[in-house]
Amino acid sequence: MNHDTICALATANGVGAIGIIRVSGEKSFEIVNKVFEGKNLEKVKSHTVHYGFIVDGKEEEREKTRDEDANNKEIIDEVMVSVFHAPKTFTTENSVEISFHGSPHIGAKILEVLIKNGARMAKAGEFTMRAFMNGRIDLSQAESIADLIASENEASRKVALNQLKGGISQEISVLRGDLLNFTSLIELELDFAEEDVEFADRKALVGLIKRIQAKLKSLIDSFQYGNAIKNGTAVAIIGKPNAGKSTLLNTLLKEERAIVSNIAGTTRDTIEEILHIKGHAFRLIDTAGLRDTEDEIEAIGVQKAREKVSQAEILVYLAAANSEDFSEDIRMVQSLVREDLELIICLTKIDEVVPTAFDTIENQFRDALHTPFDFIKISAIENRNIQELKNELSSYVENLKAQEGGVVITNQRHYEALQKSLYSVTQVEEAVSQNITTELLAYELRNALEHLGEISGEFTNDEVLGNIFSKFCIGK
Ligand code: GDP
Repeated sequence: MNHDTICALATANGVGAIGIIRVSGEKSFEIVNKVFEGKNLEKVKSHTVHYGFIVDGKEEEREKTRDEDANNKEIIDEVMVSVFHAPKTFTTENSVEISFHGSPHIGAKILEVLIKNGARMAKAGEFTMRAFMNGRIDLSQAESIADLIASENEASRKVALNQLKGGISQEISVLRGDLLNFTSLIELELDFAEEDVEFADRKALVGLIKRIQAKLKSLIDSFQYGNAIKNGTAVAIIGKPNAGKSTLLNTLLKEERAIVSNIAGTTRDTIEEILHIKGHAFRLIDTAGLRDTEDEIEAIGVQKAREKVSQAEILVYLAAANSEDFSEDIRMVQSLVREDLELIICLTKIDEVVPTAFDTIENQFRDALHTPFDFIKISAIENRNIQELKNELSSYVENLKAQEGGVVITNQRHYEALQKSLYSVTQVEEAVSQNITTELLAYELRNALEHLGEISGEFTNDEVLGNIFSKFCIGK
């Protein structure tokens, strides 16, 4: 149990009709009462709202200290104060919310008097961390609160809300429960080691392992869709100089102007542009040079293209329909394809050639490339088949969605924990098949349980926790 009483601004730091300061901890009522003129907050019922004033130095406090300047009491703001008694609160601790007139200056002054009277500033994510520490929510739920706050579209809001309701934790804890039962049996065998008994049916254990593996795999697979929802799908547009890359980019972005934004890549030094198609976000990788027509002379090296494509889930390769020879394009595509890369070959400038040429060109690509791809014929200048290209992009995400079966993983930490779990569960499977000693089997089982427990936070160390909660903003 944490005995400090913490306070922080819960609303965005800026001007608004109302700002809210949140206070949580054992002494919340006592501290706020010292600066509140209105009802005695230590006597009011839980979940009630009270009108009054926040003041710097209440009269009775000053009478106690026989302060000569007792009349210089300063009213900071007219407020509404909500009182919540433990344990039915967000943090499970006594909590108060002060709604004030939304000026950052007033907010800062109220925090100042709260701190003067015994509260301390909350650290980033500390309210949510307390909710977790006090057992009100598990770790994946805490993380989904961060996701919910950060959600920018409908799909990611729904996924985060589903997790907040305990989606992943439930699925995982059912699996973990089954595995735990087996582990107990195996450990019981250890207690009876001399008698050479087998309480845990190895065949049933393998059956369970297979079920767990299938479940873990489907959760791991859902990450691709989860990632597409949360971070958008990365698309690389590649082609020889003059293939029509910048013209296509401009055409794609022109229609979407209202929602197009430039974001500086945070983890790498590339510029990405975001394209929204049917509610899904597509990140166009490294378009820095593309929009700048000055750059069109610069030949794109295979190495540079590879780097771009390595970050992408979809490659849109552009080849100009009026080219004499496609062998260079084909070689380029051959050197870029990978198994997990969706390939779209776009024949550009189709307004410049007769339609009878299209099939011959497509066949050249089909004959040379032994990998499936979509072939789309476009004219960016005449805006022909641009919608078809967009449909193709959005159907990529739709297909991912069709593959996932309910709970969607969006969180990198969960993804990694699931992968580690899958690995350790597979180790258990091997241990059984190799008839390994019961001690080692028990060890592998405990290992797998631990990894599964990492997701809901049943097994975590302080470093992991600190890392998770530091990503929250203060006041959350
Ligand atoms: P990039 O070097 O791949 O970015 O190619 P650009 O987009 O700069 O295009 C090269 C040239 O092809 C420019 O003169 C464009 O106007 C022209 N171009 C691009 N797309 C089309 C198209 O769909 N039809 C026609 N006729 N010309 C195009």
